[in-house]
Amino acid sequence: MGVVTAGLDGLAERLKVITGAKNVITDPAELRTYECDGLTYHRATPGVVVLPDGAEQIAEIVRACTAENVPFIARGSGTGLSGGALPRTDGVLIVTSRMRRILEIDVDDERAVVEPGVINLDVSKAARPHGYYYAPDPSSQQICSIGGNVAENSGGAHCLKYGFTVNHVVACEIVTPDGDIVELTEGPGYDLLGAFVGSEGTLGIATKITVRLTRVPEAVETLLAAFTSIEQAGEAVSAIIAAGVVPAAIEMMDALSIEAAEAAVRCEYPAGAGAVLVVELDGPAAEVERQFAQAKELCGDAFEIRVAADDIERALIWRGRKSAFAAVGRISPDYIVQDGVIPRTALPEVLARIDELSGDSGVRVANVFHAGDGNLHPLVLFDDAVPGAGERAELVSAKILDLCIEHGGSITGEHGVGVDKAKHMPRMFTEEDLDTMQMVRCAFDPDGLCNPGKVYPTPRLCGEVPGRRTKVHPLVESGKADLF
Ligand SMILES: Cc1cc2nc3c(=O)[nH]c(=O)nc-3n(C[C@H](O)[C@H](O)[C@H](O)COP(=O)(O)OP(=O)(O)OC[C@H]3O[C@@H](n4cnc5c(N)ncnc54)[C@H](O)[C@@H]3O)c2cc1C
Repeated sequence: MGVVTAGLDGLAERLKVITGAKNVITDPAELRTYECDGLTYHRATPGVVVLPDGAEQIAEIVRACTAENVPFIARGSGTGLSGGALPRTDGVLIVTSRMRRILEIDVDDERAVVEPGVINLDVSKAARPHGYYYAPDPSSQQICSIGGNVAENSGGAHCLKYGFTVNHVVACEIVTPDGDIVELTEGPGYDLLGAFVGSEGTLGIATKITVRLTRVPEAVETLLAAFTSIEQAGEAVSAIIAAGVVPAAIEMMDALSIEAAEAAVRCEYPAGAGAVLVVELDGPAAEVERQFAQAKELCGDAFEIRVAADDIERALIWRGRKSAFAAVGRISPDYIVQDGVIPRTALPEVLARIDELSGDSGVRVANVFHAGDGNLHPLVLFDDAVPGAGERAELVSAKILDLCIEHGGSITGEHGVGVDKAKHMPRMFTEEDLDTMQMVRCAFDPDGLCNPGKVYPTPRLCGEVPGRRTKVHPLVESGKADLF
Protein backbone atom coordinates (compact mmCIF):
# COMPACT_ATOMS: atom_id res chain seq x y z
CA MET A 1 0.00 0.00 0.00
CA GLY A 2 1.50 3.32 -1.05
CA VAL A 3 1.75 6.62 0.72
CA VAL A 4 1.08 9.76 -1.29
CA THR A 5 1.97 13.35 -0.55
CA ALA A 6 -0.99 14.92 1.22
CA GLY A 7 -3.40 16.32 -1.34
CA LEU A 8 -2.34 13.95 -4.12
CA ASP A 9 -4.26 10.84 -2.93
CA GLY A 10 -7.37 11.61 -4.96
CA LEU A 11 -5.30 12.39 -8.04
CA ALA A 12 -3.31 9.15 -7.67
CA GLU A 13 -6.58 7.20 -7.64
CA ARG A 14 -7.69 9.02 -10.79
CA LEU A 15 -4.35 8.21 -12.50
CA LYS A 16 -4.84 4.52 -11.63
CA VAL A 17 -8.14 4.60 -13.50
CA ILE A 18 -6.43 6.18 -16.52
CA THR A 19 -3.36 3.91 -16.77
CA GLY A 20 -4.14 0.90 -14.60
CA ALA A 21 -3.05 0.67 -10.95
CA LYS A 22 0.25 -1.08 -11.68
CA ASN A 23 1.44 1.93 -13.70
CA VAL A 24 1.08 4.41 -10.86
CA ILE A 25 3.85 4.50 -8.25
CA THR A 26 3.11 5.84 -4.78
CA ASP A 27 5.36 3.66 -2.63
CA PRO A 28 8.00 5.96 -1.03
CA ALA A 29 10.87 3.52 -1.63
CA GLU A 30 9.95 3.07 -5.31
CA LEU A 31 9.42 6.82 -5.77
CA ARG A 32 13.04 7.40 -4.77
CA THR A 33 14.17 5.70 -7.99
CA TYR A 34 13.02 8.85 -9.76
CA GLU A 35 14.32 11.49 -7.36
CA CYS A 36 17.00 12.88 -9.72
CA ASP A 37 18.28 12.77 -13.27
CA GLY A 38 21.96 12.48 -14.28
CA LEU A 39 22.73 15.56 -12.18
CA THR A 40 22.48 13.76 -8.88
CA TYR A 41 23.30 16.87 -6.86
CA HIS A 42 19.65 18.00 -7.06
CA ARG A 43 17.12 15.56 -5.58
CA ALA A 44 13.38 15.59 -4.76
CA THR A 45 11.09 12.62 -4.23
CA PRO A 46 8.17 12.89 -6.65
CA GLY A 47 4.63 13.06 -5.23
CA VAL A 48 3.38 10.42 -7.69
CA VAL A 49 4.99 8.69 -10.69
CA VAL A 50 2.84 7.53 -13.60
CA LEU A 51 3.88 5.43 -16.59
CA PRO A 52 1.40 6.01 -19.45
CA ASP A 53 1.16 3.92 -22.58
CA GLY A 54 0.14 6.48 -25.17
CA ALA A 55 -0.79 10.05 -26.07
CA GLU A 56 -4.44 9.65 -25.00
CA GLN A 57 -3.37 8.55 -21.52
CA ILE A 58 -0.89 11.44 -21.24
CA ALA A 59 -3.60 13.90 -22.29
CA GLU A 60 -5.94 12.53 -19.62
CA ILE A 61 -3.18 12.66 -16.98
CA VAL A 62 -2.37 16.27 -17.87
CA ARG A 63 -6.06 17.22 -17.72
CA ALA A 64 -6.38 15.55 -14.33
CA CYS A 65 -3.33 17.46 -13.03
CA THR A 66 -4.58 20.77 -14.43
CA ALA A 67 -8.01 20.26 -12.88
CA GLU A 68 -6.35 19.96 -9.46
CA ASN A 69 -3.68 22.61 -10.10
CA VAL A 70 -0.91 20.03 -9.66
CA PRO A 71 2.44 20.49 -11.46
CA PHE A 72 3.56 17.74 -13.85
CA ILE A 73 6.99 16.91 -15.25
CA ALA A 74 7.94 14.66 -18.18
CA ARG A 75 10.81 12.23 -17.84
CA GLY A 76 12.42 10.04 -20.50
CA SER A 77 15.44 7.99 -19.40
CA GLY A 78 16.57 10.47 -16.73
CA THR A 79 20.09 10.96 -18.13
CA GLY A 80 19.80 14.77 -18.33
CA LEU A 81 22.73 16.65 -16.82
CA SER A 82 20.99 19.87 -15.76
CA GLY A 83 18.18 18.64 -13.51
CA GLY A 84 15.52 19.15 -16.22
CA ALA A 85 13.56 16.09 -15.10
CA LEU A 86 13.95 16.88 -11.40
CA PRO A 87 10.56 15.99 -9.90
CA ARG A 88 8.49 17.91 -7.35
CA THR A 89 7.24 16.51 -4.10
CA ASP A 90 3.89 18.18 -4.80
CA GLY A 91 3.77 17.04 -8.42
CA VAL A 92 3.31 14.16 -10.84
CA LEU A 93 6.22 12.72 -12.80
CA ILE A 94 5.12 11.38 -16.20
CA VAL A 95 7.65 8.77 -17.34
CA THR A 96 7.67 7.68 -21.00
CA SER A 97 9.60 4.42 -20.61
CA ARG A 98 6.56 2.32 -21.63
CA MET A 99 6.33 4.25 -24.90
CA ARG A 100 9.23 2.67 -26.79
CA ARG A 101 7.63 1.67 -30.10
CA ILE A 102 9.26 2.53 -33.41
CA LEU A 103 6.08 3.13 -35.37
CA GLU A 104 7.48 3.49 -38.87
CA ILE A 105 10.72 3.44 -40.86
CA ASP A 106 9.92 5.21 -44.12
CA VAL A 107 12.95 4.73 -46.36
CA ASP A 108 11.44 6.48 -49.38
CA ASP A 109 10.87 9.70 -47.42
CA GLU A 110 13.96 9.12 -45.22
CA ARG A 111 11.98 9.38 -41.99
CA ALA A 112 11.20 7.42 -38.86
CA VAL A 113 8.18 7.88 -36.61
CA VAL A 114 8.84 6.97 -32.98
CA GLU A 115 7.30 7.17 -29.54
CA PRO A 116 9.07 9.51 -27.10
CA GLY A 117 10.57 6.80 -24.90
CA VAL A 118 12.45 5.16 -27.81
CA ILE A 119 16.18 4.97 -27.10
CA ASN A 120 18.27 7.12 -29.46
CA LEU A 121 20.54 4.27 -30.67
CA ASP A 122 17.55 2.02 -31.39
CA VAL A 123 16.45 4.35 -34.20
CA SER A 124 19.82 3.84 -35.93
CA LYS A 125 19.67 0.09 -35.30
CA ALA A 126 16.25 -0.08 -36.95
CA ALA A 127 17.33 2.09 -39.92
CA ARG A 128 20.79 0.52 -40.50
CA PRO A 129 19.55 -2.49 -42.56
CA HIS A 130 18.11 0.05 -45.01
CA GLY A 131 21.45 1.93 -45.27
CA TYR A 132 20.33 4.76 -42.96
CA TYR A 133 20.92 5.96 -39.40
CA TYR A 134 19.79 8.71 -37.02
CA ALA A 135 22.59 11.30 -36.98
CA PRO A 136 22.39 13.11 -33.59
CA ASP A 137 24.61 10.99 -31.33
CA PRO A 138 24.76 12.10 -27.69
CA SER A 139 27.31 10.00 -25.84
CA SER A 140 24.42 8.68 -23.77
CA GLN A 141 22.76 7.38 -26.95
CA GLN A 142 22.60 3.79 -25.68
CA ILE A 143 20.21 4.88 -22.96
CA CYS A 144 18.70 8.37 -23.51
CA SER A 145 15.26 8.79 -25.11
CA ILE A 146 14.27 10.66 -28.26
CA GLY A 147 11.70 12.62 -26.20
CA GLY A 148 14.51 13.77 -23.89
CA ASN A 149 16.70 14.59 -26.92
CA VAL A 150 13.90 16.73 -28.38
CA ALA A 151 13.38 18.55 -25.07
CA GLU A 152 17.11 19.24 -24.64
CA ASN A 153 17.89 19.74 -28.35
CA SER A 154 20.71 17.29 -27.74
CA GLY A 155 24.01 17.24 -29.57
CA GLY A 156 26.91 14.81 -29.88
CA ALA A 157 30.36 14.34 -31.40
CA HIS A 158 29.02 14.21 -34.96
CA CYS A 159 26.58 17.13 -34.64
CA LEU A 160 29.23 19.55 -35.96
CA LYS A 161 28.53 18.37 -39.49
CA TYR A 162 25.02 17.00 -39.14
CA GLY A 163 23.42 19.53 -36.81
CA PHE A 164 21.65 19.14 -33.48
CA THR A 165 18.35 17.38 -32.79
CA VAL A 166 16.40 20.43 -34.03
CA ASN A 167 17.78 19.83 -37.52
CA HIS A 168 16.44 16.27 -37.55
CA VAL A 169 12.91 16.64 -36.18
CA VAL A 170 10.32 16.98 -38.91
CA ALA A 171 7.15 16.82 -36.82
CA CYS A 172 6.11 16.30 -33.26
CA GLU A 173 2.80 15.32 -31.74
CA ILE A 174 2.49 16.89 -28.31
CA VAL A 175 0.10 17.04 -25.41
CA THR A 176 -0.28 20.71 -24.57
CA PRO A 177 -0.33 21.85 -20.93
CA ASP A 178 -4.13 22.06 -21.13
CA GLY A 179 -4.38 18.46 -22.28
CA ASP A 180 -4.98 18.78 -26.04
CA ILE A 181 -3.20 16.53 -28.51
CA VAL A 182 -1.78 18.63 -31.35
CA GLU A 183 0.72 18.13 -34.17
CA LEU A 184 3.60 20.61 -34.65
CA THR A 185 5.08 20.47 -38.13
CA GLU A 186 7.56 22.28 -40.36
CA GLY A 187 5.66 24.59 -42.66
CA PRO A 188 4.24 28.06 -43.11
CA GLY A 189 3.41 30.21 -40.10
CA TYR A 190 5.27 30.58 -36.84
CA ASP A 191 7.89 27.91 -36.18
CA LEU A 192 6.22 26.34 -33.16
CA LEU A 193 8.09 23.10 -33.78
CA GLY A 194 11.36 25.02 -33.52
CA ALA A 195 10.14 26.65 -30.29
CA PHE A 196 9.22 23.28 -28.82
CA VAL A 197 12.55 21.57 -29.59
CA GLY A 198 14.92 22.58 -26.80
CA SER A 199 12.16 23.89 -24.53
CA GLU A 200 13.23 21.45 -21.80
CA GLY A 201 9.80 20.02 -21.13
CA THR A 202 8.22 23.39 -20.31
CA LEU A 203 5.85 23.72 -23.31
CA GLY A 204 4.15 20.32 -23.30
CA ILE A 205 4.92 16.61 -23.61
CA ALA A 206 6.10 15.05 -26.87
CA THR A 207 4.10 11.90 -27.60
CA LYS A 208 5.13 11.01 -31.19
CA ILE A 209 8.20 12.26 -33.05
CA THR A 210 9.01 12.13 -36.76
CA VAL A 211 12.76 12.29 -37.35
CA ARG A 212 14.89 12.58 -40.46
CA LEU A 213 17.08 9.61 -41.35
CA THR A 214 20.57 10.09 -42.83
CA ARG A 215 22.33 7.80 -45.32
CA VAL A 216 25.25 5.78 -43.92
CA PRO A 217 28.34 7.49 -45.44
CA GLU A 218 30.34 5.83 -48.21
CA ALA A 219 33.73 6.57 -46.60
CA VAL A 220 35.10 7.48 -43.15
CA GLU A 221 38.64 8.71 -42.37
CA THR A 222 40.03 9.46 -38.90
CA LEU A 223 43.27 11.03 -37.69
CA LEU A 224 44.87 11.77 -34.36
CA ALA A 225 47.10 14.87 -34.26
CA ALA A 226 49.37 15.58 -31.28
CA PHE A 227 50.42 19.17 -30.53
CA THR A 228 52.85 20.62 -28.00
CA SER A 229 50.31 23.16 -26.78
CA ILE A 230 46.54 23.51 -26.52
CA GLU A 231 46.75 26.89 -28.31
CA GLN A 232 48.28 25.18 -31.38
CA ALA A 233 45.50 22.59 -31.38
CA GLY A 234 42.86 25.35 -31.05
CA GLU A 235 44.40 27.21 -33.99
CA ALA A 236 44.32 24.04 -36.11
CA VAL A 237 40.58 23.67 -35.36
CA SER A 238 39.89 27.24 -36.53
CA ALA A 239 42.07 26.75 -39.62
CA ILE A 240 40.27 23.54 -40.64
CA ILE A 241 36.83 25.10 -40.35
CA ALA A 242 37.92 28.38 -41.98
CA ALA A 243 39.18 26.37 -44.97
CA GLY A 244 35.64 25.13 -45.54
CA VAL A 245 36.38 21.57 -44.42
CA VAL A 246 33.50 20.34 -42.27
CA PRO A 247 34.64 17.28 -40.36
CA ALA A 248 32.00 14.88 -39.04
CA ALA A 249 33.71 15.29 -35.67
CA ILE A 250 36.62 17.30 -34.33
CA GLU A 251 37.33 16.64 -30.67
CA MET A 252 40.07 17.92 -28.38
CA MET A 253 41.72 16.71 -25.20
CA ASP A 254 44.32 18.59 -23.18
CA ALA A 255 47.37 17.20 -21.34
CA LEU A 256 45.51 16.55 -18.09
CA SER A 257 42.73 14.58 -19.74
CA ILE A 258 45.27 12.66 -21.86
CA GLU A 259 47.08 11.76 -18.62
CA ALA A 260 43.78 10.49 -17.18
CA ALA A 261 42.89 8.49 -20.31
CA GLU A 262 46.39 7.00 -20.37
CA ALA A 263 46.01 5.89 -16.74
CA ALA A 264 42.57 4.39 -17.40
CA VAL A 265 42.75 2.72 -20.82
CA ARG A 266 46.41 3.02 -21.99
CA CYS A 267 45.37 4.70 -25.22
CA GLU A 268 49.07 5.30 -26.07
CA TYR A 269 48.62 8.76 -27.48
CA PRO A 270 51.96 10.39 -28.45
CA ALA A 271 54.07 11.07 -25.34
CA GLY A 272 54.54 14.73 -24.34
CA ALA A 273 51.42 16.04 -26.11
CA GLY A 274 50.00 19.27 -24.66
CA ALA A 275 46.79 18.53 -26.61
CA VAL A 276 45.45 16.05 -29.15
CA LEU A 277 42.79 16.43 -31.80
CA VAL A 278 40.68 13.60 -33.17
CA VAL A 279 39.47 14.62 -36.62
CA GLU A 280 36.97 12.45 -38.50
CA LEU A 281 35.59 13.05 -41.98
CA ASP A 282 32.80 11.10 -43.68
CA GLY A 283 30.80 11.29 -46.89
CA PRO A 284 31.35 10.43 -50.55
CA ALA A 285 34.77 8.75 -50.97
CA ALA A 286 36.26 11.29 -53.41
CA GLU A 287 35.26 14.28 -51.25
CA VAL A 288 36.51 12.64 -48.06
CA GLU A 289 39.87 11.83 -49.66
CA ARG A 290 40.40 15.43 -50.80
CA GLN A 291 39.23 17.12 -47.60
CA PHE A 292 41.07 14.66 -45.37
CA ALA A 293 44.36 15.55 -47.09
CA GLN A 294 43.53 19.23 -46.52
CA ALA A 295 42.70 18.68 -42.82
CA LYS A 296 45.96 16.79 -42.36
CA GLU A 297 47.91 19.64 -43.89
CA LEU A 298 46.14 22.17 -41.63
CA CYS A 299 47.32 20.16 -38.62
CA GLY A 300 50.83 21.05 -39.80
CA ASP A 301 51.96 22.27 -36.36
CA ALA A 302 51.34 18.81 -34.90
CA PHE A 303 54.51 16.95 -33.95
CA GLU A 304 52.84 13.64 -34.80
CA ILE A 305 49.85 12.63 -36.92
CA ARG A 306 48.41 9.11 -36.94
CA VAL A 307 45.87 8.06 -39.57
CA ALA A 308 43.57 5.10 -38.88
CA ALA A 309 44.19 2.43 -41.53
CA ASP A 310 41.01 0.51 -40.71
CA ASP A 311 38.08 0.32 -38.28
CA ILE A 312 40.21 -1.28 -35.55
CA GLU A 313 42.74 1.56 -35.64
CA ARG A 314 39.85 4.05 -35.73
CA ALA A 315 38.42 2.47 -32.57
CA LEU A 316 41.87 2.72 -30.94
CA ILE A 317 42.07 6.44 -31.69
CA TRP A 318 38.56 6.99 -30.29
CA ARG A 319 39.26 4.83 -27.23
CA GLY A 320 41.25 7.49 -25.39
CA ARG A 321 38.77 10.19 -26.35
CA LYS A 322 35.69 8.17 -25.40
CA SER A 323 37.10 7.12 -22.07
CA ALA A 324 38.43 10.58 -21.20
CA PHE A 325 35.54 11.72 -19.08
CA ALA A 326 35.27 8.63 -16.91
CA ALA A 327 39.05 8.44 -16.80
CA VAL A 328 39.25 11.76 -14.96
CA GLY A 329 38.08 9.77 -11.92
CA ARG A 330 41.58 8.21 -11.99
CA ILE A 331 43.27 11.52 -11.24
CA SER A 332 40.70 13.28 -9.06
CA PRO A 333 38.17 12.02 -6.50
CA ASP A 334 35.56 14.64 -7.47
CA TYR A 335 34.85 16.97 -10.39
CA ILE A 336 32.30 19.37 -11.82
CA VAL A 337 31.19 18.80 -15.43
CA GLN A 338 30.84 22.16 -17.10
CA ASP A 339 29.09 22.78 -20.43
CA GLY A 340 29.60 26.12 -22.17
CA VAL A 341 29.99 27.43 -25.69
CA ILE A 342 32.31 29.95 -27.29
CA PRO A 343 32.86 31.01 -30.88
CA ARG A 344 35.50 28.73 -32.42
CA THR A 345 37.78 31.69 -33.11
CA ALA A 346 37.93 32.42 -29.37
CA LEU A 347 39.18 28.90 -28.57
CA PRO A 348 42.89 29.70 -28.15
CA GLU A 349 42.20 32.78 -26.00
CA VAL A 350 39.55 31.17 -23.78
CA LEU A 351 41.64 28.07 -23.28
CA ALA A 352 44.59 30.25 -22.22
CA ARG A 353 42.30 32.14 -19.78
CA ILE A 354 41.01 28.86 -18.31
CA ASP A 355 44.64 27.85 -17.82
CA GLU A 356 45.32 31.16 -16.02
CA LEU A 357 42.19 30.71 -13.85
CA SER A 358 43.40 27.26 -12.94
CA GLY A 359 46.94 28.48 -12.15
CA ASP A 360 45.72 31.41 -10.02
CA SER A 361 43.22 29.35 -8.02
CA GLY A 362 45.23 26.14 -7.75
CA VAL A 363 42.14 24.27 -9.03
CA ARG A 364 43.03 21.82 -11.82
CA VAL A 365 40.87 21.88 -14.95
CA ALA A 366 40.91 19.10 -17.55
CA ASN A 367 39.56 20.06 -20.97
CA VAL A 368 37.70 17.53 -23.12
CA PHE A 369 35.37 18.93 -25.71
CA HIS A 370 33.62 19.19 -29.07
CA ALA A 371 36.19 21.63 -30.43
CA GLY A 372 34.60 22.05 -33.85
CA ASP A 373 31.47 23.73 -32.55
CA GLY A 374 33.16 25.49 -29.64
CA ASN A 375 31.32 23.37 -27.06
CA LEU A 376 33.58 23.19 -24.01
CA HIS A 377 33.25 20.53 -21.33
CA PRO A 378 35.85 21.64 -18.78
CA LEU A 379 36.13 19.18 -15.89
CA VAL A 380 36.91 21.12 -12.74
CA LEU A 381 38.76 18.80 -10.35
CA PHE A 382 38.64 18.85 -6.56
CA ASP A 383 38.67 16.67 -3.49
CA ASP A 384 35.53 17.08 -1.42
CA ALA A 385 37.40 15.78 1.63
CA VAL A 386 39.50 18.98 1.63
CA PRO A 387 37.61 21.81 3.39
CA GLY A 388 36.66 24.60 0.95
CA ALA A 389 37.88 22.69 -2.16
CA GLY A 390 34.36 22.19 -3.51
CA GLU A 391 33.53 25.88 -3.13
CA ARG A 392 36.77 26.90 -4.88
CA ALA A 393 35.96 24.51 -7.74
CA GLU A 394 32.43 25.94 -8.02
CA LEU A 395 33.85 29.44 -8.25
CA VAL A 396 36.24 28.47 -11.04
CA SER A 397 33.41 26.67 -12.80
CA ALA A 398 31.19 29.79 -12.63
CA LYS A 399 34.08 31.97 -13.89
CA ILE A 400 34.47 29.68 -16.90
CA LEU A 401 30.81 30.29 -17.76
CA ASP A 402 31.41 34.04 -17.40
CA LEU A 403 34.31 33.70 -19.84
CA CYS A 404 31.97 31.98 -22.31
CA ILE A 405 29.45 34.83 -22.04
CA GLU A 406 32.19 37.50 -22.31
CA HIS A 407 33.30 35.93 -25.58
CA GLY A 408 29.82 35.95 -27.07
CA GLY A 409 29.09 32.34 -26.21
CA SER A 410 26.53 30.52 -24.09
CA ILE A 411 26.11 28.98 -20.64
CA THR A 412 25.13 25.68 -22.20
CA GLY A 413 25.87 23.87 -25.43
CA GLU A 414 23.86 20.70 -25.13
CA HIS A 415 23.07 19.79 -21.52
CA GLY A 416 20.36 22.42 -21.13
CA VAL A 417 19.61 24.98 -18.44
CA GLY A 418 17.28 22.89 -16.31
CA VAL A 419 17.26 23.70 -12.65
CA ASP A 420 21.03 23.86 -12.41
CA LYS A 421 21.81 26.84 -14.63
CA ALA A 422 18.61 28.85 -14.27
CA LYS A 423 20.50 31.20 -11.96
CA HIS A 424 22.98 31.95 -14.77
CA MET A 425 20.31 33.08 -17.24
CA PRO A 426 20.38 36.74 -16.06
CA ARG A 427 24.12 36.80 -16.78
CA MET A 428 23.37 36.04 -20.40
CA PHE A 429 20.01 37.72 -20.97
CA THR A 430 18.46 41.04 -20.00
CA GLU A 431 15.29 41.22 -17.95
CA GLU A 432 13.39 42.13 -21.14
CA ASP A 433 14.79 39.04 -22.90
CA LEU A 434 13.68 36.85 -20.03
CA ASP A 435 10.23 38.47 -19.95
CA THR A 436 9.83 37.80 -23.67
CA MET A 437 10.73 34.14 -23.17
CA GLN A 438 8.18 33.97 -20.34
CA MET A 439 5.52 35.28 -22.72
CA VAL A 440 6.19 32.35 -25.07
CA ARG A 441 6.05 29.97 -22.14
CA CYS A 442 2.81 31.48 -20.87
CA ALA A 443 1.24 31.21 -24.32
CA PHE A 444 1.66 27.43 -24.08
CA ASP A 445 1.27 27.07 -20.30
CA PRO A 446 -0.66 29.97 -18.75
CA ASP A 447 -1.06 28.17 -15.41
CA GLY A 448 2.66 27.43 -15.09
CA LEU A 449 2.10 23.75 -14.28
CA CYS A 450 4.32 22.18 -16.97
CA ASN A 451 7.80 21.54 -15.50
CA PRO A 452 7.80 24.69 -13.35
CA GLY A 453 10.99 25.99 -11.75
CA LYS A 454 13.16 25.02 -14.72
CA VAL A 455 15.13 27.19 -17.16
CA TYR A 456 14.05 30.53 -15.70
CA PRO A 457 15.56 31.96 -12.52
CA THR A 458 13.67 32.88 -9.41
CA PRO A 459 15.08 35.75 -7.35
CA ARG A 460 16.07 33.26 -4.67
CA LEU A 461 18.46 31.53 -7.04
CA CYS A 462 19.94 34.57 -8.76
CA GLY A 463 23.67 34.92 -8.22
CA GLU A 464 24.09 31.52 -6.63
CA VAL A 465 26.95 29.42 -7.93
CA PRO A 466 26.21 26.16 -9.74
CA GLY A 467 25.76 22.88 -7.96
CA ARG A 468 28.56 20.40 -8.15
CA ARG A 469 28.58 16.84 -9.39
CA THR A 470 30.94 14.38 -7.85
CA LYS A 471 32.43 11.05 -8.88
CA VAL A 472 32.16 9.36 -12.24
CA HIS A 473 28.61 9.21 -13.58
CA PRO A 474 27.09 5.76 -12.87
CA LEU A 475 26.21 5.27 -16.56
CA VAL A 476 29.80 5.94 -17.58
CA GLU A 477 31.08 3.65 -14.85
CA SER A 478 28.76 0.84 -15.94
CA GLY A 479 29.99 1.16 -19.55
CA LYS A 480 26.49 2.08 -20.83
CA ALA A 481 27.56 5.58 -21.91
CA ASP A 482 30.63 7.61 -22.73
CA LEU A 483 30.70 11.30 -21.97
CA PHE A 484 32.16 13.29 -24.86
C1 LIG B 1 27.12 9.82 -19.55
C2 LIG B 1 26.30 10.88 -20.22
C3 LIG B 1 26.70 11.39 -21.45
C4 LIG B 1 25.96 12.41 -22.07
N1 LIG B 1 26.38 12.89 -23.28
C5 LIG B 1 25.64 13.84 -23.92
C6 LIG B 1 26.05 14.34 -25.20
O1 LIG B 1 27.05 13.94 -25.78
N2 LIG B 1 25.28 15.30 -25.76
C7 LIG B 1 24.15 15.78 -25.15
O2 LIG B 1 23.48 16.64 -25.72
N3 LIG B 1 23.75 15.32 -23.95
C8 LIG B 1 24.46 14.37 -23.32
N4 LIG B 1 24.05 13.89 -22.10
C9 LIG B 1 22.84 14.46 -21.46
C10 LIG B 1 21.52 13.66 -21.71
O3 LIG B 1 21.78 12.32 -22.04
C11 LIG B 1 20.68 14.31 -22.80
O4 LIG B 1 20.26 15.59 -22.37
C12 LIG B 1 19.43 13.50 -23.21
O5 LIG B 1 18.79 14.10 -24.30
C13 LIG B 1 18.41 13.34 -22.09
O6 LIG B 1 17.48 12.36 -22.48
P1 LIG B 1 16.60 11.58 -21.38
O7 LIG B 1 15.67 10.67 -22.09
O8 LIG B 1 17.48 10.95 -20.40
O9 LIG B 1 15.81 12.81 -20.77
P2 LIG B 1 15.47 13.14 -19.24
O10 LIG B 1 16.71 13.33 -18.46
O11 LIG B 1 14.49 12.17 -18.73
O12 LIG B 1 14.75 14.54 -19.42
C14 LIG B 1 15.45 15.64 -19.93
C15 LIG B 1 14.49 16.81 -20.15
O13 LIG B 1 13.57 16.44 -21.16
C16 LIG B 1 12.23 16.57 -20.70
N5 LIG B 1 11.48 15.50 -21.36
C17 LIG B 1 11.74 14.16 -21.34
N6 LIG B 1 10.85 13.51 -22.12
C18 LIG B 1 10.03 14.45 -22.64
C19 LIG B 1 8.90 14.42 -23.51
N7 LIG B 1 8.44 13.27 -24.03
N8 LIG B 1 8.29 15.58 -23.83
C20 LIG B 1 8.73 16.76 -23.32
N9 LIG B 1 9.78 16.85 -22.48
C21 LIG B 1 10.42 15.72 -22.15
C22 LIG B 1 12.32 16.46 -19.20
O14 LIG B 1 11.25 17.12 -18.56
C23 LIG B 1 13.65 17.16 -18.93
O15 LIG B 1 13.47 18.54 -18.91
C24 LIG B 1 24.79 12.89 -21.46
C25 LIG B 1 24.37 12.36 -20.23
C26 LIG B 1 25.12 11.38 -19.62
C27 LIG B 1 24.65 10.84 -18.30
